[in-house]
Amino acid sequence: MRSGVAHRALTLADRSPTLSASPWGYSPFFSMSTSPDIYIGTDSGATTSKTGGVRADGSIISMKLRQSSTNSQAGTAAVIQGWVEGVEGFLADNQLAWANVRGVGLAIPGPYQRYGVLDRSANLPLAFAGWDFHTEYSRALSAKAGRPISLIAGNDGNYGGVAEAARVRGNRKAGVVMLAPGSGLGCAYVDPNGLPLDGDNFAGMEAGHMPVPLNLLGLKPYRCGCGRDWGCIEAYTTISGLPQLLEDVIKKYPNHELATSSATTKEKVLSLRTRAQKGDALALEIFDLQAKALGLHVASLAMALDPEFFVIGGGLIDPEATTEAFRHRYLKLIHDSAQPYLFPAQRQNIKIVPATLGELSQAIGAALVALYTEKSKSA
Ligand SMILES: [Zn+2]
Repeated sequence: MRSGVAHRALTLADRSPTLSASPWGYSPFFSMSTSPDIYIGTDSGATTSKTGGVRADGSIISMKLRQSSTNSQAGTAAVIQGWVEGVEGFLADNQLAWANVRGVGLAIPGPYQRYGVLDRSANLPLAFAGWDFHTEYSRALSAKAGRPISLIAGNDGNYGGVAEAARVRGNRKAGVVMLAPGSGLGCAYVDPNGLPLDGDNFAGMEAGHMPVPLNLLGLKPYRCGCGRDWGCIEAYTTISGLPQLLEDVIKKYPNHELATSSATTKEKVLSLRTRAQKGDALALEIFDLQAKALGLHVASLAMALDPEFFVIGGGLIDPEATTEAFRHRYLKLIHDSAQPYLFPAQRQNIKIVPATLGELSQAIGAALVALYTEKSKSA
Protein backbone atom coordinates (compact mmCIF):
# COMPACT_ATOMS: atom_id res chain seq x y z
CA MET A 1 0.00 0.00 0.00
CA ARG A 2 1.24 3.46 -0.88
CA SER A 3 1.00 6.37 1.47
CA GLY A 4 3.74 8.71 0.33
CA VAL A 5 1.60 11.21 -1.54
CA ALA A 6 2.39 14.00 0.90
CA HIS A 7 5.79 14.47 -0.74
CA ARG A 8 4.39 15.25 -4.15
CA ALA A 9 4.89 18.71 -5.60
CA LEU A 10 1.76 20.76 -6.01
CA THR A 11 1.66 20.43 -9.76
CA LEU A 12 -1.73 19.23 -10.74
CA ALA A 13 -2.41 19.11 -14.43
CA ASP A 14 -0.78 17.44 -17.37
CA ARG A 15 2.16 19.52 -18.44
CA SER A 16 1.15 19.31 -22.05
CA PRO A 17 3.38 21.37 -24.38
CA THR A 18 0.28 22.65 -26.18
CA LEU A 19 -0.81 24.38 -23.02
CA SER A 20 1.77 27.07 -22.64
CA ALA A 21 2.00 27.75 -26.38
CA SER A 22 -0.92 30.12 -26.70
CA PRO A 23 -3.76 31.55 -24.69
CA TRP A 24 -7.26 30.78 -25.88
CA GLY A 25 -8.02 33.60 -28.24
CA TYR A 26 -9.13 36.28 -25.82
CA SER A 27 -9.26 39.87 -26.91
CA PRO A 28 -5.81 41.47 -27.28
CA PHE A 29 -7.26 44.47 -25.48
CA PHE A 30 -7.22 42.49 -22.26
CA SER A 31 -4.09 40.54 -23.02
CA MET A 32 -1.31 41.16 -20.51
CA SER A 33 1.69 39.25 -21.69
CA THR A 34 3.48 39.49 -18.36
CA SER A 35 0.44 38.26 -16.41
CA PRO A 36 -0.40 34.60 -15.96
CA ASP A 37 -3.56 32.94 -17.19
CA ILE A 38 -5.53 31.58 -14.28
CA TYR A 39 -8.70 29.57 -13.57
CA ILE A 40 -10.91 30.26 -10.58
CA GLY A 41 -12.92 27.76 -8.58
CA THR A 42 -15.94 28.68 -6.46
CA ASP A 43 -17.00 26.05 -3.92
CA SER A 44 -20.52 26.83 -2.74
CA GLY A 45 -21.45 25.03 0.45
CA ALA A 46 -24.77 25.31 2.27
CA THR A 47 -23.30 27.78 4.76
CA THR A 48 -19.82 28.76 3.54
CA SER A 49 -18.48 29.51 0.07
CA LYS A 50 -14.79 29.21 -0.75
CA THR A 51 -12.68 30.52 -3.62
CA GLY A 52 -9.43 29.06 -4.96
CA GLY A 53 -7.53 29.03 -8.22
CA VAL A 54 -4.98 27.32 -10.43
CA ARG A 55 -2.53 28.50 -13.07
CA ALA A 56 -2.57 27.26 -16.67
CA ASP A 57 -0.15 24.45 -15.77
CA GLY A 58 -2.55 23.24 -13.07
CA SER A 59 -0.45 24.41 -10.14
CA ILE A 60 -2.33 25.85 -7.16
CA ILE A 61 -2.17 29.64 -6.82
CA SER A 62 -2.59 29.70 -3.06
CA MET A 63 -3.08 27.12 -0.33
CA LYS A 64 -5.11 29.77 1.48
CA LEU A 65 -8.79 29.65 0.59
CA ARG A 66 -10.90 32.75 0.52
CA GLN A 67 -13.99 32.01 2.65
CA SER A 68 -17.29 33.83 3.03
CA SER A 69 -20.87 33.12 4.08
CA THR A 70 -23.05 31.66 1.29
CA ASN A 71 -25.82 33.89 2.66
CA SER A 72 -28.61 31.75 1.18
CA GLN A 73 -31.24 33.14 3.57
CA ALA A 74 -30.90 36.49 1.73
CA GLY A 75 -31.91 34.92 -1.61
CA THR A 76 -30.24 33.87 -4.84
CA ALA A 77 -29.01 37.35 -5.85
CA ALA A 78 -27.11 37.63 -2.56
CA VAL A 79 -25.50 34.24 -3.14
CA ILE A 80 -24.33 35.27 -6.63
CA GLN A 81 -22.99 38.54 -5.23
CA GLY A 82 -21.10 36.58 -2.55
CA TRP A 83 -19.51 34.29 -5.15
CA VAL A 84 -18.41 37.30 -7.26
CA GLU A 85 -17.00 39.03 -4.18
CA GLY A 86 -15.14 35.81 -3.40
CA VAL A 87 -13.48 35.95 -6.82
CA GLU A 88 -12.61 39.63 -6.45
CA GLY A 89 -11.19 39.03 -2.97
CA PHE A 90 -9.15 36.09 -4.19
CA LEU A 91 -7.76 38.13 -7.11
CA ALA A 92 -6.84 41.00 -4.77
CA ASP A 93 -5.25 38.64 -2.21
CA ASN A 94 -3.01 37.22 -4.92
CA GLN A 95 -2.22 40.42 -6.86
CA LEU A 96 -4.21 39.22 -9.86
CA ALA A 97 -6.87 40.91 -12.00
CA TRP A 98 -9.95 39.94 -14.04
CA ALA A 99 -7.72 40.15 -17.13
CA ASN A 100 -5.93 37.03 -15.86
CA VAL A 101 -9.11 34.96 -15.55
CA ARG A 102 -9.55 32.47 -18.41
CA GLY A 103 -12.42 30.50 -16.89
CA VAL A 104 -14.38 29.79 -13.74
CA GLY A 105 -15.66 26.55 -12.25
CA LEU A 106 -18.47 26.28 -9.70
CA ALA A 107 -18.76 23.33 -7.32
CA ILE A 108 -22.28 23.14 -5.92
CA PRO A 109 -24.18 20.29 -4.26
CA GLY A 110 -27.11 18.85 -6.25
CA PRO A 111 -29.65 17.62 -6.93
CA TYR A 112 -30.15 19.49 -10.20
CA GLN A 113 -33.20 19.73 -12.46
CA ARG A 114 -30.85 19.94 -15.44
CA TYR A 115 -27.35 21.28 -16.08
CA GLY A 116 -26.84 24.49 -14.13
CA VAL A 117 -30.31 24.49 -12.57
CA LEU A 118 -30.86 23.54 -8.95
CA ASP A 119 -33.59 21.18 -7.79
CA ARG A 120 -35.10 21.12 -4.31
CA SER A 121 -32.30 20.69 -1.77
CA ALA A 122 -32.55 19.83 1.92
CA ASN A 123 -29.90 22.41 2.86
CA LEU A 124 -31.19 25.43 0.92
CA PRO A 125 -34.38 27.53 1.04
CA LEU A 126 -37.32 26.09 -0.93
CA ALA A 127 -37.31 29.09 -3.28
CA PHE A 128 -33.94 27.93 -4.65
CA ALA A 129 -35.61 25.03 -6.51
CA GLY A 130 -35.48 25.83 -10.23
CA TRP A 131 -32.75 28.46 -9.81
CA ASP A 132 -30.65 28.78 -12.99
CA PHE A 133 -27.42 29.53 -11.13
CA HIS A 134 -25.30 28.88 -14.22
CA THR A 135 -26.89 31.63 -16.32
CA GLU A 136 -26.93 34.12 -13.44
CA TYR A 137 -23.36 33.52 -12.29
CA SER A 138 -22.06 33.61 -15.90
CA ARG A 139 -23.77 36.93 -16.42
CA ALA A 140 -22.40 38.38 -13.18
CA LEU A 141 -18.84 37.21 -13.91
CA SER A 142 -18.91 38.57 -17.47
CA ALA A 143 -20.28 41.92 -16.25
CA LYS A 144 -17.42 42.26 -13.77
CA ALA A 145 -14.75 41.17 -16.25
CA GLY A 146 -16.09 43.31 -19.10
CA ARG A 147 -15.96 40.32 -21.48
CA PRO A 148 -17.51 36.84 -21.61
CA ILE A 149 -16.14 34.48 -18.96
CA SER A 150 -16.81 30.81 -19.51
CA LEU A 151 -18.30 29.00 -16.55
CA ILE A 152 -18.65 25.28 -15.89
CA ALA A 153 -20.57 23.89 -12.94
CA GLY A 154 -20.89 20.51 -11.31
CA ASN A 155 -21.31 18.43 -8.22
CA ASP A 156 -19.03 19.50 -5.36
CA GLY A 157 -18.04 15.96 -4.41
CA ASN A 158 -17.08 15.14 -8.01
CA TYR A 159 -14.97 18.29 -8.24
CA GLY A 160 -13.24 17.45 -4.96
CA GLY A 161 -12.33 14.13 -6.57
CA VAL A 162 -10.87 15.95 -9.59
CA ALA A 163 -8.36 17.80 -7.38
CA GLU A 164 -7.38 14.75 -5.34
CA ALA A 165 -7.05 12.74 -8.57
CA ALA A 166 -4.72 15.32 -10.10
CA ARG A 167 -2.62 15.12 -6.96
CA VAL A 168 -2.17 11.33 -6.97
CA ARG A 169 -1.82 10.67 -10.68
CA GLY A 170 0.52 13.62 -11.38
CA ASN A 171 0.99 13.91 -15.13
CA ARG A 172 0.16 10.28 -15.81
CA LYS A 173 -3.14 9.02 -17.19
CA ALA A 174 -4.90 6.92 -14.57
CA GLY A 175 -8.44 6.50 -13.30
CA VAL A 176 -9.14 7.60 -9.73
CA VAL A 177 -12.04 6.84 -7.41
CA MET A 178 -12.43 9.05 -4.36
CA LEU A 179 -14.43 7.87 -1.35
CA ALA A 180 -14.93 10.42 1.40
CA PRO A 181 -16.94 9.22 4.41
CA GLY A 182 -18.26 12.14 6.46
CA SER A 183 -21.87 12.76 7.39
CA GLY A 184 -22.62 10.95 4.10
CA LEU A 185 -20.37 9.07 1.68
CA GLY A 186 -18.94 11.35 -0.99
CA CYS A 187 -17.98 9.35 -4.08
CA ALA A 188 -16.37 10.42 -7.34
CA TYR A 189 -14.84 8.72 -10.35
CA VAL A 190 -12.31 10.79 -12.26
CA ASP A 191 -11.33 9.48 -15.67
CA PRO A 192 -7.75 9.37 -17.04
CA ASN A 193 -8.30 12.83 -18.62
CA GLY A 194 -9.07 14.31 -15.22
CA LEU A 195 -12.81 14.81 -15.65
CA PRO A 196 -15.49 13.42 -13.34
CA LEU A 197 -18.25 10.99 -14.29
CA ASP A 198 -21.40 13.11 -13.92
CA GLY A 199 -23.89 10.72 -15.56
CA ASP A 200 -26.78 11.45 -17.91
CA ASN A 201 -29.05 12.49 -15.03
CA PHE A 202 -26.26 14.09 -12.98
CA ALA A 203 -26.49 11.13 -10.61
CA GLY A 204 -23.30 9.39 -11.74
CA MET A 205 -21.27 7.96 -8.86
CA GLU A 206 -24.07 8.31 -6.31
CA ALA A 207 -22.24 5.23 -5.12
CA GLY A 208 -23.01 5.83 -1.45
CA HIS A 209 -26.44 4.44 -2.21
CA MET A 210 -25.26 1.18 -3.72
CA PRO A 211 -25.95 -1.91 -1.59
CA VAL A 212 -23.29 -3.46 0.62
CA PRO A 213 -22.77 -7.27 0.61
CA LEU A 214 -24.59 -7.78 3.92
CA ASN A 215 -23.72 -11.47 4.16
CA LEU A 216 -20.02 -10.58 4.40
CA LEU A 217 -20.59 -7.98 7.13
CA GLY A 218 -23.01 -10.11 9.15
CA LEU A 219 -25.29 -7.10 9.63
CA LYS A 220 -28.92 -6.40 8.76
CA PRO A 221 -30.00 -3.77 6.19
CA TYR A 222 -29.68 -0.38 7.88
CA ARG A 223 -31.96 2.55 7.12
CA CYS A 224 -30.55 5.25 4.83
CA GLY A 225 -31.67 8.86 4.40
CA CYS A 226 -32.37 8.16 0.71
CA GLY A 227 -35.14 5.71 1.60
CA ARG A 228 -33.70 2.65 -0.17
CA ASP A 229 -34.11 -0.53 1.83
CA TRP A 230 -31.29 -2.59 0.34
CA GLY A 231 -28.61 -1.59 2.86
CA CYS A 232 -26.85 1.43 1.32
CA ILE A 233 -23.08 1.42 1.87
CA GLU A 234 -23.37 4.98 3.24
CA ALA A 235 -25.08 3.67 6.38
CA TYR A 236 -22.15 1.33 7.16
CA THR A 237 -19.31 3.76 6.51
CA THR A 238 -20.33 7.23 7.69
CA ILE A 239 -21.62 9.24 10.64
CA SER A 240 -25.19 8.94 9.28
CA GLY A 241 -25.28 5.21 10.06
CA LEU A 242 -23.32 5.26 13.33
CA PRO A 243 -26.39 5.18 15.62
CA GLN A 244 -27.49 1.90 14.03
CA LEU A 245 -23.98 0.45 14.08
CA LEU A 246 -23.51 1.44 17.73
CA GLU A 247 -26.84 -0.13 18.66
CA ASP A 248 -25.73 -3.46 17.14
CA VAL A 249 -22.13 -3.54 18.38
CA ILE A 250 -22.80 -2.30 21.92
CA LYS A 251 -24.74 -5.51 22.65
CA LYS A 252 -21.33 -7.19 22.96
CA TYR A 253 -20.17 -4.57 25.48
CA PRO A 254 -22.85 -4.47 28.22
CA ASN A 255 -20.41 -2.96 30.73
CA HIS A 256 -19.14 -0.20 28.45
CA GLU A 257 -19.60 3.36 29.69
CA LEU A 258 -21.80 4.13 26.64
CA ALA A 259 -24.16 1.21 27.45
CA THR A 260 -25.33 2.94 30.64
CA SER A 261 -24.64 6.59 29.72
CA SER A 262 -27.53 9.07 29.73
CA ALA A 263 -25.95 11.06 26.88
CA THR A 264 -27.99 11.48 23.68
CA THR A 265 -27.36 9.10 20.78
CA LYS A 266 -25.80 11.96 18.84
CA GLU A 267 -23.36 12.71 21.68
CA LYS A 268 -22.54 9.04 22.00
CA VAL A 269 -21.75 8.48 18.32
CA LEU A 270 -19.78 11.72 18.05
CA SER A 271 -17.60 10.57 20.97
CA LEU A 272 -16.56 7.38 19.16
CA ARG A 273 -13.78 8.87 17.04
CA THR A 274 -11.99 10.30 20.09
CA ARG A 275 -12.52 7.06 22.03
CA ALA A 276 -11.00 5.04 19.19
CA GLN A 277 -7.83 7.16 19.30
CA LYS A 278 -7.39 6.05 22.92
CA GLY A 279 -7.82 2.36 22.07
CA ASP A 280 -11.43 1.91 23.25
CA ALA A 281 -12.40 -1.61 22.11
CA LEU A 282 -16.03 -0.82 21.27
CA ALA A 283 -15.12 2.26 19.22
CA LEU A 284 -12.33 0.40 17.42
CA GLU A 285 -14.65 -2.47 16.55
CA ILE A 286 -17.13 0.00 15.05
CA PHE A 287 -14.51 1.72 12.88
CA ASP A 288 -13.06 -1.67 11.91
CA LEU A 289 -16.51 -2.60 10.63
CA GLN A 290 -16.70 0.69 8.72
CA ALA A 291 -13.28 0.02 7.18
CA LYS A 292 -14.27 -3.52 6.23
CA ALA A 293 -17.47 -2.25 4.58
CA LEU A 294 -15.56 0.46 2.72
CA GLY A 295 -13.02 -2.13 1.51
CA LEU A 296 -15.84 -4.25 0.09
CA HIS A 297 -17.13 -1.15 -1.68
CA VAL A 298 -13.66 -0.52 -3.11
CA ALA A 299 -13.78 -4.03 -4.60
CA SER A 300 -17.34 -3.53 -5.95
CA LEU A 301 -16.35 -0.28 -7.64
CA ALA A 302 -13.16 -1.86 -9.00
CA MET A 303 -15.37 -4.37 -10.84
CA ALA A 304 -17.11 -1.52 -12.68
CA LEU A 305 -14.45 1.16 -13.03
CA ASP A 306 -11.07 -0.58 -12.63
CA PRO A 307 -9.15 2.55 -11.56
CA GLU A 308 -5.50 2.54 -10.50
CA PHE A 309 -6.14 4.71 -7.45
CA PHE A 310 -8.65 4.82 -4.64
CA VAL A 311 -8.30 8.00 -2.61
CA ILE A 312 -9.84 7.83 0.86
CA GLY A 313 -10.96 11.16 2.34
CA GLY A 314 -13.09 12.18 5.28
CA GLY A 315 -12.56 12.90 8.97
CA LEU A 316 -11.09 9.52 9.88
CA ILE A 317 -7.97 10.09 7.79
CA ASP A 318 -7.56 13.73 8.83
CA PRO A 319 -4.15 13.98 10.57
CA GLU A 320 -5.58 16.64 12.87
CA ALA A 321 -8.40 14.36 14.05
CA THR A 322 -6.87 10.89 14.28
CA THR A 323 -3.57 9.28 15.24
CA GLU A 324 -1.17 7.82 12.73
CA ALA A 325 -1.72 4.36 14.24
CA PHE A 326 -5.49 4.72 13.80
CA ARG A 327 -5.20 5.90 10.17
CA HIS A 328 -2.82 3.05 9.39
CA ARG A 329 -5.22 0.51 10.90
CA TYR A 330 -8.21 2.02 9.03
CA LEU A 331 -6.49 2.13 5.62
CA LYS A 332 -4.95 -1.33 6.05
CA LEU A 333 -8.35 -2.85 6.86
CA ILE A 334 -9.89 -1.20 3.78
CA HIS A 335 -7.08 -2.68 1.71
CA ASP A 336 -7.26 -6.16 3.29
CA SER A 337 -11.03 -6.32 2.98
CA ALA A 338 -10.94 -5.40 -0.74
CA GLN A 339 -8.08 -7.74 -1.73
CA PRO A 340 -9.87 -11.15 -1.91
CA TYR A 341 -12.49 -9.74 -4.30
CA LEU A 342 -10.10 -8.14 -6.82
CA PHE A 343 -8.70 -9.68 -9.98
CA PRO A 344 -4.98 -10.61 -9.74
CA ALA A 345 -3.77 -7.65 -11.83
CA GLN A 346 -5.90 -5.29 -9.75
CA ARG A 347 -4.54 -6.80 -6.55
CA GLN A 348 -1.08 -6.00 -7.83
CA ASN A 349 -1.69 -2.51 -9.16
CA ILE A 350 -4.50 -0.78 -7.29
CA LYS A 351 -3.28 1.78 -4.77
CA ILE A 352 -5.38 2.91 -1.82
CA VAL A 353 -4.10 6.25 -0.55
CA PRO A 354 -5.28 8.97 1.84
CA ALA A 355 -6.63 12.29 0.51
CA THR A 356 -4.30 15.23 1.08
CA LEU A 357 -6.09 18.43 0.04
CA GLY A 358 -8.73 18.60 2.78
CA GLU A 359 -11.15 21.48 2.38
CA LEU A 360 -9.16 22.93 -0.52
CA SER A 361 -10.19 20.10 -2.82
CA GLN A 362 -13.57 21.29 -4.12
CA ALA A 363 -12.56 24.85 -5.03
CA ILE A 364 -9.32 23.62 -6.62
CA GLY A 365 -11.20 20.84 -8.43
CA ALA A 366 -13.69 23.35 -9.85
CA ALA A 367 -10.81 25.51 -11.11
CA LEU A 368 -9.16 22.44 -12.66
CA VAL A 369 -12.34 21.42 -14.50
CA ALA A 370 -12.50 24.97 -15.90
CA LEU A 371 -8.88 24.56 -17.03
CA TYR A 372 -9.40 21.08 -18.55
CA THR A 373 -12.55 22.32 -20.34
CA GLU A 374 -10.67 25.21 -21.97
CA LYS A 375 -7.84 22.87 -22.82
CA SER A 376 -10.18 20.42 -24.57
CA LYS A 377 -11.75 23.28 -26.56
CA SER A 378 -8.36 24.40 -27.83
CA ALA A 379 -7.13 20.85 -28.56
ZN1 LIG B 1 -29.11 5.40 0.50
